[in-house]
Amino acid sequence: MKNIVLFGPPGAGKGTQAEFIRDSYNLFHISTGDVFRYNIKNNTSLGVLAKEYMDKGELVPDEVTIEMLNKVVINNLDCNGFIFDGFPRTTSQAIALDKLMTSNNTMISAMIAFEVEDNILISRLIKRGETSGRVDDSDELIVKNRINEYYRKTAILKEYYQEKDRYYGINGEGQINEIFIRLKKVIDSL
Ligand code: AMP
Repeated sequence: MKNIVLFGPPGAGKGTQAEFIRDSYNLFHISTGDVFRYNIKNNTSLGVLAKEYMDKGELVPDEVTIEMLNKVVINNLDCNGFIFDGFPRTTSQAIALDKLMTSNNTMISAMIAFEVEDNILISRLIKRGETSGRVDDSDELIVKNRINEYYRKTAILKEYYQEKDRYYGINGEGQINEIFIRLKKVIDSL
């Protein structure tokens, strides 16, 4: 199995590139943000809980997020590998993911990080908010809070994967197809 963690702040392009990877490499794409949004749309108890945090640009608590992620993985173990998009976002989540992989005789092959300047992130997210209808994309204060949450809780994971020799950084600025070429170089080398 090839299991890839896509990493980077909100607006770095994880979701867009995840779809290209899914189609080219036939991997199973898990976006924790999408799973939460699906639950919000369907008014489940998980959705009601997640919405409280998401609308403020805060992370949903670890226990809830980890349990949800575990379920999605366990239900799809017959795939060629996973693309994790938006997970892990905290050290506890990264540890839980390693445990889950090990217990299923597999591992994270790589964390691939998109490196993008903050001012580009903010303008990408606000622009996306014009069409996505996402509350957390449409208000600049919420967008900035999401980026702050990334630096406070998530950025540290770079070291977590560097220590395991699994970290690959790529330039996430430029045309979507150029970024995908950079990404493919890394994936093909795994
Ligand atoms: P995203 O679609 O990845 O930008 O995520 C949107 C929002 O969903 C985030 O701002 C968080 O509130 C929540 N979320 C998504 N993934 C996670 C995660 N791994 N841990 C905690 N909260 C998450």
